[in-house]
Amino acid sequence: MELSKKDVDALRTLLDGGTQNMVVVTHTNPDGDAIGASLAWADVLRRKGHRVTCVVPNRFPSFLDWMPGIDELRIHKLQKEEVEKAVAEADTIFCLDFNQIQRLEGVGELIEKNTAARTVLIDHHLDPPHVYDLELSYPKSSSTSFLVYRLIEEIEGLEAIDKTMGEQLYVGIMTDTGNFSFSFLTPELFRAVAVLIEKGIDIPYINRMVYHSYTADRLKLLGHVLDKMQIIKVGGEQTAYMALRESELRKFNFQIGDSEGFVNYPLSIRGLALSAMFIETRQFIRVSFRSREDVDCSEFARRYFDGGGHKNASGGKSYVPMTQTIENFKKAIREFFADNSQPKD
Ligand code: 5GP
Ligand code: MN
Repeated sequence: MELSKKDVDALRTLLDGGTQNMVVVTHTNPDGDAIGASLAWADVLRRKGHRVTCVVPNRFPSFLDWMPGIDELRIHKLQKEEVEKAVAEADTIFCLDFNQIQRLEGVGELIEKNTAARTVLIDHHLDPPHVYDLELSYPKSSSTSFLVYRLIEEIEGLEAIDKTMGEQLYVGIMTDTGNFSFSFLTPELFRAVAVLIEKGIDIPYINRMVYHSYTADRLKLLGHVLDKMQIIKVGGEQTAYMALRESELRKFNFQIGDSEGFVNYPLSIRGLALSAMFIETRQFIRVSFRSREDVDCSEFARRYFDGGGHKNASGGKSYVPMTQTIENFKKAIREFFADNSQPKD
């Protein structure tokens, strides 16, 4: 993945231009990539002498509790004043692993209030909105963590990466590639992993901490939702969907992050085109999509669910009740796959 020289030069100038107050912020419901990339990037900035606050809108999932540096994260929902102060006083705000400010919920408004701050995007999602002062957008990067790795390589050299940073970056690379099973698995990516191993990361340990950390309730919730899965067929394509209501979440003692990855399971059905998952929250229904390589679910999320993301992993929101949301979804699927309809014989 070639980085643009202009991007690297601009970033280098910014980092070398005297001590600043900096904020690194990532998206609501942060995943392994969001957290891994943010912690590693914050570390780079601190070593350059900047004062850095690393912000997340809400809590991270418990399977990331063990990550080195996780305690330095400031959680807007829980530490409002501290986050407000940091954002208000920031000279530069780095936005990592998202490109739509709406994905920050309340933190977005704080950023908009600080009109003096410079904003920098470091991200791998499609279609950035061009509202940032500096925009490093690389949709061909399999994760933001890999993009951060490449930036460190260009700006600081690989010697700047130690074991701790290696672990942070590896968590992001591993989780956003579905443990090395999605797209953009380039030789360059595996070379980066080889470097991280040289830095001392313990892959079986990281695997275990991230993937083998279910509570019994979480595993039972997975069983429950798979049992409820529905399949619809349109134009020769199969789509699976699953839904969880608040009452079901309560029954299984739901914790943030518990449903992470559930939407991937139906893709193990042979030939399945699209998998959808609907989760009821107090304010809206969170929607997640995953798709077969040749099906663009980010387009689907954008068109019908006020969302976006990557070609094969996307999400969005629905503001109507569950029954209506599912009706809307079925209608959208009929429309979306209509182009592929085969004449029945
Ligand atoms: P997940 O299903 O893991 O929550 O989200 C998968 C991907 O979909 C995320 O990496 C992100 O790119 C995208 N995504 C999820 N929710 C939203 C949303 O509300 N808006 C946009 N634009 N993208 C989303
Ligand atoms: Mn990501």
